[in-house]
Amino acid sequence: MQKFVRFEKDGKTRYGLLKEQDICVLEGDIFAEYTETELTYKLQDVRLLAPCEPSKAVCVGLNYRSHAAEMNMPLPEEPILFLKPSTSVVAAQENIIYWPGISRLDYEAELAVVIGKKAHNVPEEEALNYVLGYTAGNDVTARDLQKKDGQWTRAKGFDTFLPLGPVIVTGIDPSNLSVQSYLNGELRQDGNTADLIFPVPYLVSYISRIMTLLPGDVILTGTPAGIGPMQPGDTIEVRLEHIGSLINKVGKCN
Ligand code: MG
Repeated sequence: MQKFVRFEKDGKTRYGLLKEQDICVLEGDIFAEYTETELTYKLQDVRLLAPCEPSKAVCVGLNYRSHAAEMNMPLPEEPILFLKPSTSVVAAQENIIYWPGISRLDYEAELAVVIGKKAHNVPEEEALNYVLGYTAGNDVTARDLQKKDGQWTRAKGFDTFLPLGPVIVTGIDPSNLSVQSYLNGELRQDGNTADLIFPVPYLVSYISRIMTLLPGDVILTGTPAGIGPMQPGDTIEVRLEHIGSLINKVGKCN
């Protein structure tokens, strides 16, 4: 198991390997070849960035039976896909903005799959070879606009609506991971990826037959039951087993 971080220090953006509270700085490309350098920083002395820069985030709607039930939606026969733009990504500790014109802003805790190499028409049995690792994601949603529009692009696509992080963890089994959210410290979602209707290898294969997945692209695998609204000033934590906590505050638009 390795933990990749992307961070900013002294005006430079770099990748590193997190070992306990130390970051070993890497040279090269975590999606191709890299080497460990002698340089290390303390985790507390850097600003963590979103752990990758996706060209697209492919998201799956209604992938847990429990969430489909709370939304009064029938179980899908095929994955329901939508995209979030690259500009919606923010890092852990950055604010989610409660933009004007929104009257209900929801959190959705999700396992995010980080693609490691270009994937096109990948068979399900080989799908995990195209995955670098996993991180935590929050599929922030303007629920009122989602209902109003029918299409989900506006409701899901605002700037700051895709917190990702804090680390990319490699070498874990995505089929049995606890997925939780805590609003102001209170447990709100408590699911497990064992309950995914369409599991990770199926999703990677299915999506790769539609659009080519590029290194650094992410797949958000859906959210379990317990979604709910956030208010300005709230703190939302998405907690993923083996990955850690992705914590963001909700801010007002200045
Ligand atoms: Mg979602």
